[in-house]
Amino acid sequence: MDKALLHFDNSYARDLEGFYAPWQAATAPAPRLLLLNQALAEELGLDSATLDDELGAAIFSGNQVPEGALPLAQAYAGHQFGHFSPQLGDGRALLLGELIDRHGRRRDMQLKGSGRTPFSRGGDGKAALGPVLREYVIGEAMHALGIPTTRALAAVTTGETVRRETWLPGAILTRIAASHIRVGTFQFFAARNENVRVKQLADYTIARHYPPLKGADNPYLELFAAVSAAQAALIARWMLVGFIHGVMNTDNMSIAGETIDYGPCAFMDNYDPETVFSSIDAHGRYAYAHQPLIAQWNLTRFAETLIDLVHPDPDEAARLLTEQLNEFPKLYTRHWLDGMRAKMGLATAEDGDLALAQALLSAMEGQNADFTQVFRGLSAAVRGDPAQVRAHFVNQAPFDLWLAQWQARLAHESATAEARAEAMDQVNPLYIPRNHKVEEALAAATLNQDLTPFKALLAVLERPFAERPGLESYTQPAPEDFGPFKTFCGT
Ligand code: AMP
Ligand code: MG
Repeated sequence: MDKALLHFDNSYARDLEGFYAPWQAATAPAPRLLLLNQALAEELGLDSATLDDELGAAIFSGNQVPEGALPLAQAYAGHQFGHFSPQLGDGRALLLGELIDRHGRRRDMQLKGSGRTPFSRGGDGKAALGPVLREYVIGEAMHALGIPTTRALAAVTTGETVRRETWLPGAILTRIAASHIRVGTFQFFAARNENVRVKQLADYTIARHYPPLKGADNPYLELFAAVSAAQAALIARWMLVGFIHGVMNTDNMSIAGETIDYGPCAFMDNYDPETVFSSIDAHGRYAYAHQPLIAQWNLTRFAETLIDLVHPDPDEAARLLTEQLNEFPKLYTRHWLDGMRAKMGLATAEDGDLALAQALLSAMEGQNADFTQVFRGLSAAVRGDPAQVRAHFVNQAPFDLWLAQWQARLAHESATAEARAEAMDQVNPLYIPRNHKVEEALAAATLNQDLTPFKALLAVLERPFAERPGLESYTQPAPEDFGPFKTFCGT
């Protein structure tokens, strides 16, 4: 090869020595490239034609270290379901390095499932094909919905089987992220009282993600405010599409504000605030409606790591951070309400809008009303056909009451009905990763080596708002015989 295929610039390795272990991927016996994300490859300035074959299989399996890469496993800690683990880290992932994309943004390239590392504890360091494909499709769906997220660049099978409840095909996901710095990365060093390193990490994070804060009076307090603001915006976006992350541990909360680590995540079908899909979340800690509160809880853990940096007097530092932390519910509600206004076709703001949004959700509760379909159906109501959305309610009286209130509120808006309906169809998706469709696609890929349903699903989800003929089955909730859905941790 005459020129480097990937132009790495590895600032994490360079600037943060002691924050990771340099490491190598395990050898994959028979790597095969299953999926290459052409659009993302293009965005990263990669030559996708060259990678779309054996060379891609070699690189994305970790068998060939591309020129300029410096594979390493990052150290981090984290609160898992409320309990602190001082040492987690990349137990089955390797950061290959960083690329500067076509827009000048620095992005991490990580292999997930590439074998044991010094952080593996009891684990095998591997990933099974099902969870790899799940992260691929749900991450790409989130991206198409306009929600900040890590992305999937490639998926390979390794040619070996990995042991879970049964033997499953082994696979590796190549993940692209703004960075892999987590709340847990700060916790790792703070828990060891390595204050110099916490400061070093905070300075690195500011330079990488929030450069304007460098000259602020109190850059670390500002960093905390910026991360809180990014999380408030992110979680509001999740809530507006019915996304449930499933494992909002502090090690799965990105400082850059991206959705990260798709494990037992899923989209809610019937509106029920207590929805939990994850088999490991027995107490519903990470239920749909708890997500904003959990985000704030995680941010409190982040704040604790910054005390020494924010003010020499710890009481004063705590006061300043708490003041900022108390802003979170307001920030979150503002983002959520902005989003709900758009979903309800409101271009202006009035005092009663929050109550109006909440009244719609209350009307949906206990009605078996499909969250995605109800919101999408509102544009049909604007176009003069409320029967369609009304049909989602078993008990229609509360909905009719809401409909009258909403129509009275819409009368204050100036857009034409058609313009309003079109704007609503840009924010209320028609196609989301329905659980039964995801399961069907994963089963075909893992049991029959048939990627056709997976690729079809991916193509549908790449354009979630644009109605296309022939895709009706992707808009429907699971059939009765699908039963109650449970997801398992992506390990
Ligand atoms: P996750 O549930 O993917 O967010 O992972 C939580 C922690 O467990 C991280 O430190 C992972 O690196 C680690 N981990 C998860 N699965 C494995 C595995 N199969 N082998 C080694 N470490 C793992
Ligand atoms: Mg994780």
